[in-house]
Amino acid sequence: MDKAKNLTPKKSPDHTPPVTKDTPVQFLKGVGPARAKLLKRLGIETLEDMLFYFPWRYEDRTDLKKINELSYGKVETALCEVVSAEVVTTPKRRMKIFEITVTDKTGFLKSRWFNQPYLERYFKKGQKVILCGMVKGNPYARFGLEMENPDFELVGDDDTFIHTSRIVPVYKATEGISPKQIRTLMFNAATNYSSLIDDYLPAEVLDRNNLKPLQWAVKETHFPEEFTDVSVLNDASSPAHKRLAFDEFFLLELGLALLKKREVLEQGISFKAEDHLVNKFLDSLPFELTGAQKRVIAGIMSDMRRPLPMNRLVHGDVGCGKTVVALVSMLIAVENGYQACLMAPTELLAEQHFINIHKMIETLGLKVVLLTSSSKGKPVDHIAQGAAQIIIGTHAIIQESVTFKNLGLAIIDEQHKFGVVQRANIRRKGFNPDILIMTATPIPRTLALTLYGDLDISIIDELPKGRRPVITKVFFPSQKDRIYSLIKEELSKGRQVYIVYPLIEESEKLDLKSAIEGCEAFKRIYPEKRIGLVHGKMHHDEREAVMAQFKSGDIEMLIATTVIEVGIDVPNASLMLIVHSERFGLAQLHQLRGRIGRGGYDSYCLLMAYPPLSEEAKRRLKAMESTSDGFKIAEEDLDIRGPGDFFGTRQSGIPDLKVANIVRDITVLEAARKEAFAFIDAEPDLNKYPMLKETLQKKWMGRLELVKS
Ligand code: ADP
Ligand code: MG
Repeated sequence: MDKAKNLTPKKSPDHTPPVTKDTPVQFLKGVGPARAKLLKRLGIETLEDMLFYFPWRYEDRTDLKKINELSYGKVETALCEVVSAEVVTTPKRRMKIFEITVTDKTGFLKSRWFNQPYLERYFKKGQKVILCGMVKGNPYARFGLEMENPDFELVGDDDTFIHTSRIVPVYKATEGISPKQIRTLMFNAATNYSSLIDDYLPAEVLDRNNLKPLQWAVKETHFPEEFTDVSVLNDASSPAHKRLAFDEFFLLELGLALLKKREVLEQGISFKAEDHLVNKFLDSLPFELTGAQKRVIAGIMSDMRRPLPMNRLVHGDVGCGKTVVALVSMLIAVENGYQACLMAPTELLAEQHFINIHKMIETLGLKVVLLTSSSKGKPVDHIAQGAAQIIIGTHAIIQESVTFKNLGLAIIDEQHKFGVVQRANIRRKGFNPDILIMTATPIPRTLALTLYGDLDISIIDELPKGRRPVITKVFFPSQKDRIYSLIKEELSKGRQVYIVYPLIEESEKLDLKSAIEGCEAFKRIYPEKRIGLVHGKMHHDEREAVMAQFKSGDIEMLIATTVIEVGIDVPNASLMLIVHSERFGLAQLHQLRGRIGRGGYDSYCLLMAYPPLSEEAKRRLKAMESTSDGFKIAEEDLDIRGPGDFFGTRQSGIPDLKVANIVRDITVLEAARKEAFAFIDAEPDLNKYPMLKETLQKKWMGRLELVKS
């Protein structure tokens, strides 16, 4: 029974080991092996896990009502006395129902519980009880008020209330264990064992940031006593929550700071600035670099000259010209006798980069190779022997079997999910090669700080001259004819057109089918036009051929699944139709749209949407119509999706944020970051702070060998 009275731990016999924060939950009061298994599903294995499993919301049950003040349809709490209690059995299903009637002199209230006949023991006539539940029943009947399965607490002389008469925490539960049962276990853990938690933060950090002790914060977050404004608690903004959020950010930033420090301390390659190749290349370009490109290139050059490994993120909206920047950096490495590689997230993009780059530097006489999971034999040998100077590829580049002769620079393109761990893998491919990450995925500044906290950041904040904003508009199936005539108009002007179909993994076949069918349909509508199809399941030679035809203008209309999301560059394309645009994420839509508006023509992005549209889909489409600013899009995206989802999977390799929220707690993040970086500057080995060191290691789960002793 989860009664408050039973919670005081029994004196354990002397031979049982004392409870520590590492004690498996199985040995805690009220748990046992069966429940321990259930708790494991929630990620709770030790007492410490339990203490750090926080409620996801709170209910205010402090407001005791009289029975005649109870409102129908609301969750209410009332203090009453038992008048009668009985177990009845339903005739058909023979279900046992325990039913009580209670009063407080202002009226009567019935409560019933299903399949818990043992409750009879607790509800004797005259027993005082607090009930909390949804008020139901027939308001016109004399005994009309009812609660089904209310939370209850028996009132004795010196009771502690867990489920009623307080701000009550609500925990995410799992099958076999209810939120109420978890609450009881939590109460035991929080009241008896919060003191076992070490406060690993140095006192001066606590002082400077006005932070409460960790033990207090943990206990208060579970069972708020001092700070009881339920709306603030539900917003996770109480002083207790702030302390927990600070810790999550601090440990995250401390890891990033250490990583950065370590890299700074390491010897890297100091490239010389001859710049023959670079100048020759720049002279061959049919355009002048933008001011932003020049500035970013200058930053990269100075990084590369220094004898420390470069770790830089170049951020620029789609179409700002990152490829040129990447090429210049690679040429610096090559000129110094090193190899340079560029990694793209998809095979198609790697192929496109390979073709583009090959063309752009044809006259320089360099050996460029393509390495994807479908390439065999030769490129791998050429890379190992050093014959290949520039290597373009996919994740295949970081496979175990690929070795470089002397990798000097690694560039990661368009891959915001490429975390610290993968970067470490690339590092191992060479002798601390310089690393450059290129991303067009607009990342709000707050997120960039968190995700890329160990990187230096450059921003290309200028588009090449002659770019026009893309006119974006949502269309519905009833407006198909309008779409067809807009397409026809563009084609008749000699422009080219993209038609994009969604590709959702679970139903890949179905979507492929719709792209193929779409292609057939468009061939019927525009019989005189040359129409091509590309998708991810195609053999890459075939795909490459279609792309080449589209690029050269032989194909006027390209039907594609989202394989064309990034990196495809056909300036003559001026219209994109996105079919089922309601199914795409905002970042993805923005990326896709970035494929057009590159040639100085008026360009159009038509978003075909199939109702009914969810609220979120409406917001996404509206955002697309109203702005083309990548940063604005990113902020909106973050707002719609929430930070957890925005981060993507664990791929990023950074520790989880459970309480902290990078949007809501941005000021806490900034404070924690400042503290963490100053801290590592002063105390890089953390030897004076063993508890902090241990916590840090645990939090990063050894992913980075951050702290070596
Ligand atoms: P992204 O940043 O999206 O990767 P790209 O590097 O693919 O952009 O460049 C987009 C297009 O703009 C390419 O056709 C490229 O040749 C062209 N471009 C790049 N820099 C300039 C510039 N300074 N002036 C004019 N066109 C440029
Ligand atoms: Mg690009």
